[in-house]
Amino acid sequence: LTPVPSDIAISRAQTPKPVDQLAEEIGLLPEELEAYGRSKAKVRLSLLDRLHKQPDGKYVLVAGITPTPLGEGKSTVTIGLVQALSAHLQLNSFACLRQPSQGPTFGVKGGAAGGGYAQVIPMEEFNLHLTGDIHAITAANNLVAAAIDARMLHEATQTDKGLFNRLVPSVNGARRFSPIQISRLRRLGINKIDPASLSAEEISTFVRLDLDPSKITWQRVLDTNDRFLRKITVGQASTEKGQARETGFDIAVASEIMAILALADSLVDMKNRLARMVVGTSRSGQPITAEDLGVSGALAVLMKDAIKPTLMQTLEGTPVFVHAGPFANIAHGNSSVLADKLALKLVGRDGFVVTEAGFGADIGMEKFFNIKCRASGLRPNAVVLVATVRALKMHGGVGRRTLPKEYIDENLSLVAGGCRSNLRKQIQIAHLFGVPVVVALNVFKTDTQAEIDLVCEIAKECGASEAVPCHHWAQGGRGSIQLAKAVHEAASRTSDFQFLYNTEMPIVEKIRTIAQKVYGADDIQLTPEANAKIDYYNQQGYGSLPICMAKTHLSLSHMPDKKGVPTGFVLPIRDVRASIGAGFIYPLVGTMSTMPGLPTRPCFYDIDLDPVPALYS
Ligand code: ADP
Repeated sequence: LTPVPSDIAISRAQTPKPVDQLAEEIGLLPEELEAYGRSKAKVRLSLLDRLHKQPDGKYVLVAGITPTPLGEGKSTVTIGLVQALSAHLQLNSFACLRQPSQGPTFGVKGGAAGGGYAQVIPMEEFNLHLTGDIHAITAANNLVAAAIDARMLHEATQTDKGLFNRLVPSVNGARRFSPIQISRLRRLGINKIDPASLSAEEISTFVRLDLDPSKITWQRVLDTNDRFLRKITVGQASTEKGQARETGFDIAVASEIMAILALADSLVDMKNRLARMVVGTSRSGQPITAEDLGVSGALAVLMKDAIKPTLMQTLEGTPVFVHAGPFANIAHGNSSVLADKLALKLVGRDGFVVTEAGFGADIGMEKFFNIKCRASGLRPNAVVLVATVRALKMHGGVGRRTLPKEYIDENLSLVAGGCRSNLRKQIQIAHLFGVPVVVALNVFKTDTQAEIDLVCEIAKECGASEAVPCHHWAQGGRGSIQLAKAVHEAASRTSDFQFLYNTEMPIVEKIRTIAQKVYGADDIQLTPEANAKIDYYNQQGYGSLPICMAKTHLSLSHMPDKKGVPTGFVLPIRDVRASIGAGFIYPLVGTMSTMPGLPTRPCFYDIDLDPVPALYS
């Protein structure tokens, strides 16, 4: 329709096919499906065993240029592309998207189901709650936090013997260690399974984690942009007997448990990663894990359903997996390895899996390659780099002002400036990994033909194997047929994939390599605290993990106002954390916060319930 109706009106106008019908169409067996209502279902991981001999399809990553705060349409392009591949070129295809966080949904950006005629439906189910994975992560994360504080209180107020008697209770007259406790004993070098045989010294070593309150790295999480929780004091009630300490909340999707969900390749792998998570350090400098707290088994139980990807569909009835979470600026921010693996098997040799990496290629794509592909062993065949005329004009000189006239009126010199700066640099970043790049210009109705032609021409000059305008937002899949053909062609070439760095390089060198080669920094500068943490991580044997930078998505640099390709800057590394279960080192760049805030007029002003009985009762 012209004009294009609102996203919610389009979503509501299409009745999704029943999820069991969708599942049958893509080759799932009824027993591989766990329905959550009529339009979404979890898919069992046993599918991977059944299809293990099936060859994988082509693997395509959608990334973008440095965006405006509104997003440049990566999700929309992803959906438009699979709609074009499936419904118009008759190629099996699957989209793998991340579950939206309540932070952006109620904050600045809004939902993440795509937009116009390229959406996942039903969009309100996609955008909120879904099948509860983020709630499970929040529950698991905060169980660890509760376990840490309660344990410190109990250790402070009880004798060794008292702690031992409670931790290893007597059942029918005999004490027995749980499997998690036996595992802790082994790591402490105590190879005994009879609790009665432990010496007083061994009992003390076993029962006292002796966490240093100033070295606890685990934070609580909440899936809301609640900036007042960035720094809090817990334990102020008199019942906590003076155990108050400062801590804080992160947004739930930045939890290490979200990264584990994204990177685990089986239930057992997830369980082992959850057990390895380091929550802090003992007073003697030893890392303390979730397993030491005795909580790792409970975490696996809380997460046992979340590990299964959720099946949904696009407006044109093609399949979508929704799994893991966004925020490639402060988290790993990619969809899950398991969703991609399952989808690659389901589409088969000639099919396509289109997966999305958050924000600009400098962060989401860099982490996709260096962290996710390293963990999964999967190699992408092509990158689709999404650009918009409005973001190119911002990089070409408009800067940060909100919706100025230049965004709407034709301005070829601003567009050319954006193409020759940010777009060129993001193409070069993808080429560092040896993968062909197709530029997808997501066309808005205010873009002129001259602007569209100019972007496509310069993108090819800058090394893109193809650059095409996409009209899926206004036309659905048929508006992206040119993109689908270009991706088909690029993905059939041999790609020469390589990682940006070898993980055996020292941590500081890995950070410097990303800062210089990807962000264009002259160098990096670490605070004494960051340096001390890196020394500690090296001592503990974590030196060969890949790097997950927490950096603003609004600039290639650490300064959100610097658009285009900033030069002449030194990247400040304020702090460095370690996510040992997820398997990466996590440097915090500049003033980057892991708990976003709400703007003056958040998106929740535009969200309301129209109590239509047919929909809600
Ligand atoms: P990203 O995934 O890059 O963050 P989205 O695909 O979520 O971006 O799109 C951001 C917003 O922009 C959505 O509300 C979407 O409806 C809107 N949008 C995307 N493409 C277009 C377009 N071509 N014309 C108008 N609005 C668009």
